[in-house]
Amino acid sequence: MKRVELLAPAGDLDRLKIAIRYGANAVYIGGKRFSLRSRASNFDLKDIAEGVEFAHHHDAHVHVTVNMLPHEEDLEGISEYLKDLESIGVDAIIVASLSIMQLAKKVAPKLEVHVSTQHSSTNSSVVKLYESLGMDRVVLARECTLDDVKRTTANSNLPIEAFIHGGMCVSYSGRCTLSNNMTNRDANRGGCAQSCRWKYRLYEGDIKLNEDDHMFSMSSKDLCAMKYIPALIDAGVSSFKIEGRMKSQYYLATIVRTYRMLIDEYYETGSISQKRMQWYYEELSKAENRLSAGGFYGGVPGMKDHLYGINGAGVSQEFIAYVLDYDEEKQIAKLEVRNNFSSGIDAEAFGATTPNQMFVMDILYDEDGEVVDVARNPMDILYTKINVKLKKHDMIRKVIKKRENVY
Ligand code: SF4
Repeated sequence: MKRVELLAPAGDLDRLKIAIRYGANAVYIGGKRFSLRSRASNFDLKDIAEGVEFAHHHDAHVHVTVNMLPHEEDLEGISEYLKDLESIGVDAIIVASLSIMQLAKKVAPKLEVHVSTQHSSTNSSVVKLYESLGMDRVVLARECTLDDVKRTTANSNLPIEAFIHGGMCVSYSGRCTLSNNMTNRDANRGGCAQSCRWKYRLYEGDIKLNEDDHMFSMSSKDLCAMKYIPALIDAGVSSFKIEGRMKSQYYLATIVRTYRMLIDEYYETGSISQKRMQWYYEELSKAENRLSAGGFYGGVPGMKDHLYGINGAGVSQEFIAYVLDYDEEKQIAKLEVRNNFSSGIDAEAFGATTPNQMFVMDILYDEDGEVVDVARNPMDILYTKINVKLKKHDMIRKVIKKRENVY
């Protein structure tokens, strides 16, 4: 049985490597042109080529977003770009413009063309239309209910990709000009300033409708489709997509690893108990800063699925160090500092294949062998004895607060 693909975002090469090491089957990245989030992208063609080589070496795929809605002046050089992506060995492009879809089929036929969620595809008839145009996959709109997904997959031949985690747009999959109006940054050309999440004073004519301590914002809770994963697998979804090309290495490692474990557990055992779901939820909350809900999968979101006046929920743990190396015999770890910590704190190590392991941080030494009381500077290299078995590329976090369990 072919397993569902776990598709993760990556804003640069380091994050691409983390996502794949921590269990993604594929990553999606944006080049410096023709892509939404173009401001966030660090991938020039050389980096894309390196990413493809790394991914293919690990049996993973690379999808490149070519998903802006282009105006006339945006199209210059698009044919050459598509040919370059094909020659580099990119597996697929994610496209929002019908003309770019057709152009890609003509000038770079080895590239799979995936129809972007910007097309708001919500049913099988539109999937059949894209099939008739020669496209290879359709990314469903985030506005699909679980029932929509089931009916679409049951009546479609094309592989279907569905979002499972990350930010939601209060507009209909980006069909919005709020950012354009507020900041002159075009949401459909990669410039969304998330103006919906700003805090507003509301007026009806001259009458003020809200007090300053009850500012209005339009912020959905983030999508967390964890409890729908078994049903989405059973429905025959081909790819599960995590949103967030701006997210950190730690966020990616935590979210990708958690979904990897959940998906694999479901394939291996055929069910996920409530207790296990709770554990998975708590894992996600170690990196997830915003409150989450099930998006549209359980039906049209209501008041409880939105955030009013609050944005962050606070992560329950903080990323403090990346394991550059571990000497098993001496139990000495070489750490790259990410956030402030000191010896004596309770810490937890985890990795792509390393289980969560709590330990107390021992004495820290710098590269000259001098004792360091507090690790203050990000990217400093420190050494310490850690008596739980680690691997290169594992991560270490410290408990900062207990999040309320709202799964
Ligand atoms: S401003 Fe908000 S609603 Fe509009 S596209 Fe951006 S995230 Fe979506």
